[in-house]
Formats: sequence, structure tokens, C-alpha cells
Amino acid sequence: MAGTTAWVLGDQLSHRNPALQGADRVLMVESRAKLGAGRWHRQKLHLVLSAMRHFAAELREGGVEVDYRQAGTLHTGLRSHVREHAPERVVLLRPTSRDGLDLLGGLDRVEILDESLFMTHPDEFAEWADGRKRLRMEDFYRWQRRRLDVMVDGHGEPLGGKWNYDHDNREPPPKRMRPPRPYAPREGAIDAEVRADLDAMALDTFGEDAARMWPATHEQALRSLHRFIEQRLPDFGRYQDAMLGGEPFMWHSHISAALNLGLLDPRDAVDAAVAALESGHAPLNAVEGFVRQIIGWREYVWGTYWLFGDDWRSDNALDADGDLPEAFWGGHTDMHCIQDSVEGLSATAYAHHIQRLMVFGNLAMLLGVRPSEIYDWFHESFIDGYPWVMAPNVLAMATWADGGRMFTKPYAAGGRYVDRMSDYCGGCRYDPTKRTGEDACPFSTLYWDFLDRNRAELQGIRRMQMPLRTLEKMDDGDLDEIRALGAAHRSHFRS
Ligand code: SF4
Repeated sequence: MAGTTAWVLGDQLSHRNPALQGADRVLMVESRAKLGAGRWHRQKLHLVLSAMRHFAAELREGGVEVDYRQAGTLHTGLRSHVREHAPERVVLLRPTSRDGLDLLGGLDRVEILDESLFMTHPDEFAEWADGRKRLRMEDFYRWQRRRLDVMVDGHGEPLGGKWNYDHDNREPPPKRMRPPRPYAPREGAIDAEVRADLDAMALDTFGEDAARMWPATHEQALRSLHRFIEQRLPDFGRYQDAMLGGEPFMWHSHISAALNLGLLDPRDAVDAAVAALESGHAPLNAVEGFVRQIIGWREYVWGTYWLFGDDWRSDNALDADGDLPEAFWGGHTDMHCIQDSVEGLSATAYAHHIQRLMVFGNLAMLLGVRPSEIYDWFHESFIDGYPWVMAPNVLAMATWADGGRMFTKPYAAGGRYVDRMSDYCGGCRYDPTKRTGEDACPFSTLYWDFLDRNRAELQGIRRMQMPLRTLEKMDDGDLDEIRALGAAHRSHFRS
């Protein structure tokens, strides 16, 4: 037997990965089965392979022995490694998905380190959740601020006197202002090799191949973070819910992919934002909004994923049974908001949180698409999509498939919301204010159609009472037309 192997998975690419401590060598495996296990966005495949190969190269430059394998599966990669190197132990940081933990945890010689690259252990989250009637993100976030000592004074109270500046962060899109471009790394020899390999594999992928626009190393991730802090953080807060045609990144940070690959430590991102506040470079509402996304929302999603176990994948509280619209895969639609968001996704493998929630998720829920199909599409298409992110975000938040375990009401909205928060509707053939008629906005029609079809399921939700009362009072003729138009939209999008 020959010493200890540290096995580093594709989303654990941190030089602070505890599995690396004291290891005699490192194992990394590209699994062909995983590459072919979905219709992944081409740029996502490229980024993961590029980041893994860059990480292996950095380790080798630092004198570490790396056994980098291309294998049929992770399992066969491990078997070949064990045959050749005969390690006594193979140490692995806790995988970020349940399937990964189940698959790898039971393998011969493999020891899972019960640590992660997150700031909150699932047991700490479970302790926080224990005995609470509702797992409110806001409560968790305040607990995190105090626990992690982020932007609190000596008495555990929030800097500036308020925990949350969301109210200041819902400005509609600016009329003449355009966001600064995010950091774009320069491709190198490893990228050329990855591109050639992917071409040779001829996988069924989604989206455009393009020069890599996402960090693939820790150094690039830091550059991307600092570009955001310098140029976009000051306006991030006020425009974080706004959408502009042709601007998939807006003032968002562009670091989620690097965080989720392990290339960037979330604590570094928080420290950089807080330093910008302290130096007067960025205002409190922007820094607080960013910090909430990192230590609040991201860690909350991570915690709930582990807390609720395997329930997620089979949840379907509204019995939705439709197929995903072809438009989500790049098919043409005359809904300008959808067309622009899909084009942005195809070009970048990214859409920001309001496009994800209020454009894609909203339409899919209103149409009654099967939650598992929406989940797969989000997971495969988005550069930062992993099971722990997408299960709570898609199944609980965007589609209400869990029936309200995490949220007090479904995030359903008509065209007026999109109109208020974007510049999409001006260039659309539909009218966001109309729910009936030839130019009625499909969102507005489908919103009422959704309420009508799901009255029984929504009846007990306090925050849905007002729209349900409006529905009750609706003119019979209007309701008949909404039902007919809604059915036509559902049938159109399914075909
Ligand atoms: Fe989207 Fe409706 Fe606005 Fe058109 S009118 S862009 S479909 S919300």
C-alpha cells in the first residue's frame, strides 16, 4: 500500500481543499458518463474541464503528483488509480450532491471528510432550523451575520441600523445607463485542448461555443471579483432586480460559477465587499445586498438542500405535467422577454436571478411544466447550476413544487411585473397590461389561468387571497376568454 490519495472532484477546485493536506498524490477524474448525462450548455462543459485541467496543472507546478484520468465513470477512474498506485486511503471532501455522496461514500478505501468549501455545515443549519415553524431566509441571514461577525457592531446589531436594504434595491432599469462589462479571461493552451476534446466527443449540447468568459483558476476568479467590486458593486444594489435587453449580466457579480467550482472562497468575496463599504467605494445598500446573497441566500440554499433530503426531486404540489417549451432550448418565440433571455443564456450560459425566477421559472410554472423537467433544464443550461443550488431554487422557489415548505406563496406574476422591471415590453408585439384580446401578454393571461386552474391548491395561502378574490369577481366573459387563451398558450408551448 502506498500512502494517501486526495481525490478532488470538479467542483472542489480550491487549494484550501482540506483533502489536500498531507496527501501523497492527487487523483482527478473526468467522467465521460457525466459529460454525456444531459444536454449541458457547451460553455459549462468547457469551463468545468478547463478549470479541472488548470487546477491539475497548478498542483503539478507546485510539485504535487497528480493522476489525472479520463475514464468512463468516476468509479472506473478510481479503480484504475487504485490498481496503479495502490493507495492505503483515498480521501475526499464531502461531495456537494446527495447522489455523489451516496455513490462515492460507499467505495472501498474512500474516506469522506465531513467538511466543505461552504461557510455553514449542514449540521449547523439543521441546528438553526430545529424547532422553527418556518425557515425564513431573513432569520437565517441575521443569524449568519452575527455568527460570522459580518457587518455587525459590538452588540450584534447591524451596521447602519437595518438588516436589509431590499426596499432600496428594487429600482427599475436605468434609461440611458449601460452596465460595465465583466472581466473576461484570456484563453490559453488548456482551453484549446478542451475545445478540441469536446469537438471530438460530439456531445448533444445546448448553447453557443464562445471564447471562455468565466474564470477557470483562482487567480482569474479573484480578478473577476475585483473587477466587480471596482466597477459594478456600487450600482449592484439598486438595479439587482432590473432587466435590460441584451444585458445578461447587468450589475451582477459574475462570480457564481467560480464560487460553485471552489475557485473562489465565499469569505474572500464578502471581505472584499465589506472593504469597499469601509473605504467609501460602495454604498451600504449595495454591499448589504451582495453580502446577503453570499452568506444568506447561498448558504441557506445549501443548508435546505441537505435538510430536506431526497424529497426535492419528486415534489410536484400542483400536479404539473407539461413539457418544457421548445423556446427554452432556443426555439423562436414572439415573447420578447423570453426570446432575449434565451438568446443571452445561449450566448453566455447565464441569466441573472430575476430572469431565472420571474421570466423562465414564472413562465414554466404558469404553463404547468413538470418541475423535474424545469430542474433538469436549469441544472444543465446554467454555468453555475448544481443539484444543491437548483433543487431549492427551482423546485421550491421558482415552481412551488414543494407546496410551500420554504416559501409562503408561489412566485407567479403577470406581464406588468416584467414591464416594471425591464425594458422588454416596449419592443414586444404583446401588451403587458392586457390579459385578454389578440395582443394580450401571455404572462398576463397565463397568470389568471394559473390561479383559476389551481384555485383549490392556492386557497389556503394567506398571501394569495387578494388575487383569488379578484378572480372570484371576474366577469364570466373575461374568465372564459382567459381559459381559452390560456389553453391555447399551453398547447402552443407544448408543441
Ligand atoms: Fe414579455 Fe409580455 Fe412584456 Fe412581451 S409584453 S415582453 S411577453 S411581459
